[in-house]
Amino acid sequence: MAEQTIYLDGQFVTKENAKVSVFDHGFLYGDGIFEGIRIYNGNIFKCSEHLDRLYDSAKSIQLDIPLTYDEMLEAMAETIRRNEMRNGYIRLIVSRGPGNLGLDPRRCPKASVIIIVEQLAIYPEHAYINGLRAVSVSQRRNLPDALNPKIKSLNYLNNILVKIQSNLAEADEAIMMNAQGYVTEGSGDNIFIIKRGVVYTPPCYLGALEGITRQAIIELCEKLGYKLKEEPFTMHDIYIADEVFFTGTAAEVIAAREIDGRIIGEGHAGPITLKLLEEFRNVVDKDGYKVWES
Ligand code: PMP
Repeated sequence: MAEQTIYLDGQFVTKENAKVSVFDHGFLYGDGIFEGIRIYNGNIFKCSEHLDRLYDSAKSIQLDIPLTYDEMLEAMAETIRRNEMRNGYIRLIVSRGPGNLGLDPRRCPKASVIIIVEQLAIYPEHAYINGLRAVSVSQRRNLPDALNPKIKSLNYLNNILVKIQSNLAEADEAIMMNAQGYVTEGSGDNIFIIKRGVVYTPPCYLGALEGITRQAIIELCEKLGYKLKEEPFTMHDIYIADEVFFTGTAAEVIAAREIDGRIIGEGHAGPITLKLLEEFRNVVDKDGYKVWES
């Protein structure tokens, strides 16, 4: 990869010069939105789905993105080209922009757009076979009527508090429930369970991000002929599941081997999880937007 170049409000700058104002409301209040996207072999995986989610999140919080959809796509592609990136991670950030110390967004005349591309620090390959240790946490998922988890907002304190709890338990991942005790998602991933050949994932209205990897896995289940149900479940259903796995842009499809001290299935990634991971990895460099021809 070339020296890291960052897109900052229409300019391409070095890492040292990639600085924003201390009055930016993204910094002061977590007021803004973001996307995490992957490029595989020159292909931005599910590019339009990520851009759609970015613009939907912006609309929901009444944030005007100062770039059109096509301009955003071109800014992202140009950042990738300048960084000579074929495989890696793309972070799109739109903050409310600089304002004053008051929280009123009307005092922020222009949103800021930042695009960072980086190599990805991912789980080692053996983790995909062995699976993760996860714990459920007492911290509840943001209520959809307070801060809807469908908005991919810069305010990740809910997720960070959950991560702190799972760190204290020396676990790899956390499982968050909503206020009614239904499972919602991991700290930064969606969750699936498998029981007697049926794949289950919680509906996002319970309090989860509408993950793009989640949707890709739902579609793969259909393609492979696995029965898929979006329905609420509890920690009990997780403990007695044959397989449990998490999905996300960074993590892809990764099993849990142990949850709250219960061994899941055989204590390593199960056959359906591994099949879905294999099929997922077969499509990631095909389905999306090609920046580089391979
Ligand atoms: N839930 C949360 C809270 C997330 O932050 C993410 C993204 N890291 C996901 C789920 C997975 O979403 P996606 O598959 O679109 O990356």
